[in-house]
Amino acid sequence: MWQRSASRLTSYLVAAALCAAGGAVTPSAAPQSVVDVLSYRISLEFGAADSAIRAVTEITCQVSGDGTERVRFDLVGLIVDSVKVAGANAAFGKGVGSLEVELGERAAPGDTVVVAVFYHGNPEDGLIFRRNAYGRPAVFADNWPDRARYWFPSVDHPRDKAMVEFRVRAPADWEVVASGRLVEEKLLDGDAKLTVWATEHPIPVYTMVFGAADLSVEELGALGCEVGSDRCVRITQWVYPEDEEQARVLFRRAPEIVAFFDSLIGPFPYEKLALVQSSTRYGGMENASAIFFGEGVVRRGRGDVVVAHEIAHQWFGDAVTEREWSHLWLAEGFATYFASVFYEFHGDETLARRLRDSAEARYLASPQDVARPVIDSLPANLMELLNANNYQKGAWVLQMLRQLLGDEMFFTGIRRYYAEYRHGTALTADLQRVMEEVSGRELDWYFDQWLRRPGYPQVETRHAWDAGEGTLELHVSQVQSWPAYRLPLTLEAAGAGFSLRRTFWVEGSDSRHQWSLPGEPRRVRVDPDNEILGPVTVVGALD
Ligand SMILES: [Zn+2]
Repeated sequence: MWQRSASRLTSYLVAAALCAAGGAVTPSAAPQSVVDVLSYRISLEFGAADSAIRAVTEITCQVSGDGTERVRFDLVGLIVDSVKVAGANAAFGKGVGSLEVELGERAAPGDTVVVAVFYHGNPEDGLIFRRNAYGRPAVFADNWPDRARYWFPSVDHPRDKAMVEFRVRAPADWEVVASGRLVEEKLLDGDAKLTVWATEHPIPVYTMVFGAADLSVEELGALGCEVGSDRCVRITQWVYPEDEEQARVLFRRAPEIVAFFDSLIGPFPYEKLALVQSSTRYGGMENASAIFFGEGVVRRGRGDVVVAHEIAHQWFGDAVTEREWSHLWLAEGFATYFASVFYEFHGDETLARRLRDSAEARYLASPQDVARPVIDSLPANLMELLNANNYQKGAWVLQMLRQLLGDEMFFTGIRRYYAEYRHGTALTADLQRVMEEVSGRELDWYFDQWLRRPGYPQVETRHAWDAGEGTLELHVSQVQSWPAYRLPLTLEAAGAGFSLRRTFWVEGSDSRHQWSLPGEPRRVRVDPDNEILGPVTVVGALD
């Protein structure tokens, strides 16, 4: 997801950004433990002038734990007309935010149960009926973080990924786009059209979406569609007809971005990629295989950092999903970081550097976030997770890990992490284990100091030239209120006929180091490439 760039320090991104306006979000229900949803089949219909739906959601789930006689789904608002279990009418109870269904008999662990919920009404949230910027009606789902429950019964938590099929009956002259592969499109009686999309892999509920509106559709490129290839991923844009031109500009690098992550991280995880202009809340939302962009973002038509960010999410967040909300950095930190990696590898190191520096500035200017660790189970309102810890600090954690391990080890680890957890869920410990196995290094200290503790290092250095010994004497202090960090600190020294760099390991709040040099340095720079999150300051000469 693309969050609003509020800080002036990141204002150059504002052109491409917007979003994440806070909203009333019901507390996420405790994750279900009695069932694992395998698939949703969501059939729904509405007319052009409607803001109401008539729907049937069929949920296929597998019973876990000790077995159960009833199952509970998240569902807010709407009127439930009836519920069937395995085709027979079933008793149900509707609570404020839930639907409890009696199975009729006890289901044993491993049993598969099919529950069909028939319902109708005006979704209060999650499925947004709105006129778009040009005054025409449009319907777009907008689930993040847990607003799918406003329009279909679900286990609305990222730990329970599932397949989804959308069967949407909409006005005949609208286009309907959704997660997954297009299965069927046919005209029906009464000026209506049925469009069916189905995923071939489980995806998080918060990315199960469809959009329906007057949209112009255009192919932008393809991945692996040549003769003899065993896959074909088409990349398309679905935008308001008035904004076709701006969309082509905004999305012009999308095929290149997809191909880059495909080769760097591992195969693109889905059947296709649709880039969709939508009238929903966020500047960009990484819905699996159907990314939704804010209509204003597309109308402006420039600044593709948001496009790179949302495309990176297809790998991280969508294909490899954070099992708990408190590990959201595995989605947002990764998407933020890998967007900058795209520019770094495509000749725009200046932009990559600006993204990194502005991320640092944004984090340091967020005292509320600085006071909390990245892995933070405190926020009750999930919108608070859209913060500088999960995005900006998370991106820095990856950058610094790459510096620590080196490119080859780091990217090998990323590829293995993706291969192991693709279409599943992960926690930070899973990433740590993979990185430890690949590198042969114990990394608990690293994940601990950067992710499980709040704050950042504030480094002060003093140095002096010892002419007698031919050494540069260096004193490093960590003056932050948080415990001392283990850090690789790079120095650059230049003098007559030499310019050298060396990295010193800093541990503890005070440390001394020596560096033999060919002569007196005329210039010494500390952390010259800004590789450490937090200020590194030369405070003066050694006494
Ligand atoms: Zn994001």
